Amino acid sequence: MIIVIDGPAGSGKSSTARAIADRMGIEYLDSGALYRTATLIYLEANRDKETFFRLLNQNKITFYYEDQKFHVLVDGQSVTDKIRTSKVTSAVSEVAALPRVRSFVNNLMRDVVLDGVYIAEGRDLGTAVFPDAELKFFMSADLEERAKRRLNERKEKNPGLTLEEVKQNIAERDLKDSRRKADPLKKADDAIEIDTTNLTFEQQVDKICLEISEVLKEIE
Ligand code: C5P
Repeated sequence: MIIVIDGPAGSGKSSTARAIADRMGIEYLDSGALYRTATLIYLEANRDKETFFRLLNQNKITFYYEDQKFHVLVDGQSVTDKIRTSKVTSAVSEVAALPRVRSFVNNLMRDVVLDGVYIAEGRDLGTAVFPDAELKFFMSADLEERAKRRLNERKEKNPGLTLEEVKQNIAERDLKDSRRKADPLKKADDAIEIDTTNLTFEQQVDKICLEISEVLKEIE
């Protein structure tokens, strides 16, 4: 069974999905982390597409969720922290727009969800990757609110970061992610929209957990 949450950057998908996975004892899948991993490989290939695609096919990418963190390994080496640097963040939308990268990441995800119950989050999961998902959510929030939340998450590791910088980065990524030809960021017609601008974290987690419990009851 698969439950998906899509939405723009900073809408709270990742923290919400992790809290739900912990509360309900289900698996968590972070598709953005896989695009970030492909981007790290792209940057290590000095943006040379031929080298990049060769490395992408040669390297073994594995991942798991543990202790509130989505861990990613490339050939057994952890890249969990490396994929969160600003270099990767600035290049990720460009790499994620490549159709070959999208089908690579989609295959990784489709293979893993064959067993168990998963909550997965991203941009195109309800529309392109898992159109038959049992439950779909689309999370949104005002740009200002999303930037404030992102800044809060990042300020400890990056004390010089300003609200304006975060806002600009988020707005640029959203624009690229929504305008790209291959599987753009888009709400699925059958997704439940959750605007979190005026919700507390607990409220948004409760809301989604309630919907999931209803579906699980129907299935059992
Ligand atoms: O979720 P996160 O901000 O880590 O995602 C990083 C980037 O990966 C997004 O800005 C987007 O370009 C790309 N992405 C995507 N499709 C997804 C998930 C993420 O294109 N399903």
